[in-house]
This record gives sequence, structure tokens and C-alpha cells, in this order.
Amino acid sequence: MSMTNEDLFRDLLPFVSDKLAKKFSESTGIGVVSKLDIRSVTLGTSLMLKPNKTEERRLKDMEGFFHDKEAFNKADKEKSVYRICYFNFDGLSCAITVMSSGKIGNEYFLTKGHFHRPLEMSEIYIFLSGQGVSILQRKDKEKPVLIAPLTRGTVAYAPPFYAHRTVNIGNDDLCWISIFDTKARLDYEPILKEGFKVLVVEEDGKATYVANKSHI
Ligand code: MN
Repeated sequence: MSMTNEDLFRDLLPFVSDKLAKKFSESTGIGVVSKLDIRSVTLGTSLMLKPNKTEERRLKDMEGFFHDKEAFNKADKEKSVYRICYFNFDGLSCAITVMSSGKIGNEYFLTKGHFHRPLEMSEIYIFLSGQGVSILQRKDKEKPVLIAPLTRGTVAYAPPFYAHRTVNIGNDDLCWISIFDTKARLDYEPILKEGFKVLVVEEDGKATYVANKSHI
């Protein structure tokens, strides 16, 4: 069975603006996403047995990562944005993330986003449920930012040198497995300082993207 690039994000079309759907063609065109035909996934409440580490990001842990400071200040800081279980092995590690649906102002819930150190280290994601996008941005600023579609069955790739952030644009949890080099360190500082070039926001009930005016 052959798939067209649009098959990679057909499930997402009801959730996104025409502008964002058009933007997807850059990432699907260079092959950073592909798709498994997963028809259904049922996740229980006890997601993981014996992870090496678990982490929860609440809004209070994410100061400075959302665009609308006023809306952020008004929000309940105890609100959980995402939960991660890590499994570390020699060579490769695996993380399972469950991200809540929500917004700060018009900006959807997001992961902080990071570069890997060394920058050469890449990552693979397999999405199990929900609707989202990945923002991929290189350190050299002239390169265009990519926005990749994420839906159940998406296999996404964060290539070497790209900072990556996941955004939940749906009404349900977004859940994924990621696989990366155990030696990779995660560098959040450039994102906190400079942000990504684009913000993924709700406009007329759909997800779209706008330039981030405060990006340096
Ligand atoms: Mn990563």
C-alpha cells in the first residue's frame, strides 16, 4: 500500500488551519515523518512498569516557555502539562510521554523543547494517541523552521542539529514513545532565551502558526 504525503496528516485536517496543513508539506516532503496504520490504542492508567526515572512538568516548572506571560501568570501553576517515564539502557534510552490537552492564552500546551548535546544526536518518536505537531528548528537561523504533523501511528524523526518541541493541538492526551542516545544531554537554555521562530496557536477553533515576534 503506498501512501501520499497528505495521508500522513489526513487525520489532523479537521484540527488545523489551511496555512498549517500547507506548512506540513515541508516536513513530510523531506521524510521526517512516516506512519504506521495503527487503528486503535487503549492505554490503561498504570502506563509503565519500573521506569528508571519519572518526571512531571507542571506549569510552575515551565515559566518562560509560553508566549502569553499574562495568561501564564493567571493559570493554575499546579496544572500538570506532561509526564515522562524514562528507561535507560546501555546505548539507547526510551521515554514515554503523556501530555495533557490545554492552552495558555491561545498557545497550546507544549514541551519545553531542547537541543541535544552533542547536537549530532537525533531522536525517533512513535505516536500512540492524540493530535499534535512537532516544531523542528536548526541552530543556524537562516534554515526554515519545520512543523511536522503528529497523530496516532506517526513515526517522527528529530534530525541531528534540530531543536524539537511537541505541541498538543487536540482535546485529548497526546502520547508517544521516544528513543534516543543514552549519552544525549538535553539543552533547554537556548529555547528559554530565544524561543522557537513560530508559535502554534488556536485561531477560529483550529490550530495554526504565527511568527514568534520575541524570537531573537
Ligand atoms: Mn530530544
